[in-house]
Amino acid sequence: AYNFNAGPAAMPLSALQKAQAELLDFNGTGMSIMEHSHRGKDYEAVHNQAIALLKELMAIPENYEVLFVQGGASLQFAMVPMNFLPAGKQAGYVMTGAWSEKAFAEAEKLGAAYIAATAKEGNYRRIPALKEIKAQQDTAYLHITSNNTIFGTEWHAFPDTGEIPLIADMSSDILSHPFDVSKFALIYAGAQKNLGPSGVTVVIIRREFLEQANKNLPAMLKYATFAKDNSLYNTPPTFSIYMVKLMLEWVKEQGGVTAIHRRNQEKAALLYEVIDASNGFYVGHAQPEARSLMNVTFRLADEALEKKFLEEVKKEGFVGLNGHRSVGGCRASMYNAVPYEACKALRDKMLAFQKENA
Ligand code: PLP
Repeated sequence: AYNFNAGPAAMPLSALQKAQAELLDFNGTGMSIMEHSHRGKDYEAVHNQAIALLKELMAIPENYEVLFVQGGASLQFAMVPMNFLPAGKQAGYVMTGAWSEKAFAEAEKLGAAYIAATAKEGNYRRIPALKEIKAQQDTAYLHITSNNTIFGTEWHAFPDTGEIPLIADMSSDILSHPFDVSKFALIYAGAQKNLGPSGVTVVIIRREFLEQANKNLPAMLKYATFAKDNSLYNTPPTFSIYMVKLMLEWVKEQGGVTAIHRRNQEKAALLYEVIDASNGFYVGHAQPEARSLMNVTFRLADEALEKKFLEEVKKEGFVGLNGHRSVGGCRASMYNAVPYEACKALRDKMLAFQKENA
C-alpha cells in the first residue's frame, strides 16, 4: 500500500521488521518487550535509549526534560493551561487551524486566553506574519501549532517572543526539519505521525519553566510528576515507546533530521510541482509560502473528476488521500516514514489522471 494516512501513519518498514523479529523474544529474554515489567532493566534500557536518541537527533539542550505522557496531544491542550496559566495571567494563542481552536477552547475553560493572531479568514490558508502576532499584557505563554495537519500549512520561521514562553504543538511535524529547541519553553507531539505509533505523547520542556508550574494538581496532570520519575511514575505505554525507539534509530540511520528534511522537501516538491503546473486542474489549499512539507492539501477544480480521482487512487493501492471534512478534496500526508517512491507514484498518478481527464 502507498500509505498517505494523516495519523496514525506510515512507519519505516525496517522498524516494523525489527519489531516483528523481536516480537516473541526480546534480546534473548524469552519474552516479548510488551511482557516486560516497566521496572525491569530490559525495558528501562529501551526507555532511556528512546529519550537519549530524541535528545541527540533534535539537539535538545541540557536544561530540557523529555517526557512520555499518555492522553494524546488532546490532553496537552488541557495540561498546558492547567500547569502554566495562573489566575491573573492570560495565555495567547495563534490560530492556524482546527487543532489551534481545540487548544484555545481548553485554555478558555481553565483561565484567561486570547487570540494573538488568526488565519481563520479564508479557511486557514496561511500562517500569520510574525508582525501580526500581538501579545497582550501579563501573557503567561504564547501557543502555536507548528504544522496544521488538516489545512496543510506549516510555520517556516518561529516567532521571537522574548520573555514570553513559547509553546508549540508539533504533533504533525516534529523531527521533520531541524530547528532551535531553545526557542521553546515546551513542545508537545503525539507520536503517531513522525515518531512512532499512537499511545504516547512526547513532551520536551525547559526545566526553569517547569519549576513555575502549578503544584496543586492531580499527580497525572502535572509535568513535574513525569519529570521527577523519568516518566515512570506509573506504567508508561511500553510497547509504543519501544516502537518510538525503533523509529528514532531509523531516523539516525537515514542521516538524522537534516537528511530527513532534505528528503521531505524533495517529496513535497513532487506534488506541489504537479499542482502548480496543472493550469488549475489541481488547486492547492495553502498559500505557497505557507505550504506544509507534511500534509499536501488540494482539490480538483472539477468536483465530479475529484470524486473519480479519489475512487481511482483507492483502487490502485493509495491509502488515506481523502481530505479532512472541513477542507474537503484531497490530502497527501507525507511524514518522515513515507517513502520517496510512494510520493513519486502519486505524482505519476496525478499527471496521468490529468492527461486522461483534462
Ligand atoms: N494536534 C495536531 C496538530 C494534530 O494533527 C492532532 C491529530 O491529528 C492532534 C493535535 C490531536 O492529537 P491526538 O489525537 O494525539 O490527541
